[in-house]
Amino acid sequence: MLNEKIATMINTQLNRELESAYIYQAMELYFASHNLAGFQNFFHVQVQEELAHSHLFIDYLNRLGGKVELEAISKPNQTFDSVLEVFEAALAHERTVTGWIYELMGEAIDARDFSTQSYLKWFVDEQTEEEETFTGIVDKLKFIKGDPHAILLLDNELAARTFVQPVI
Ligand code: MG
Repeated sequence: MLNEKIATMINTQLNRELESAYIYQAMELYFASHNLAGFQNFFHVQVQEELAHSHLFIDYLNRLGGKVELEAISKPNQTFDSVLEVFEAALAHERTVTGWIYELMGEAIDARDFSTQSYLKWFVDEQTEEEETFTGIVDKLKFIKGDPHAILLLDNELAARTFVQPVI
């Protein structure tokens, strides 16, 4: 049984995960419009991951008797000037998400809700990975300074990313 505050926070988070999918969908479309299929694939996988995160929270709320309330999703930014700008925006977004997950974990600790703490541990680890992934790409993009040849090599590299269904 979840306390009301935690149930509400999880509901907010599952909506934010859907919003994240929407934000990354816009980024996928930006790369599609530039025929950069590797970057497009990278964000296509990212969209699938965010939808999966949302579903994990939906499952958790349903299992513990919470109510899922779907909220309106804001229109995402669809205007970008460079590959670097996209990845910097994505990294900033992931850092924000990490803060939300930490707030949720902090609340679960305060409430001595060990079930939610256990479930959230996967998301804490996932955020470490997300920030590591985006930081790595931002660093590479800064290093190559817009060199088209290097960007095409990175595009080729990111074409290999595949979606793996997360299980908690
Ligand atoms: Mg997520």
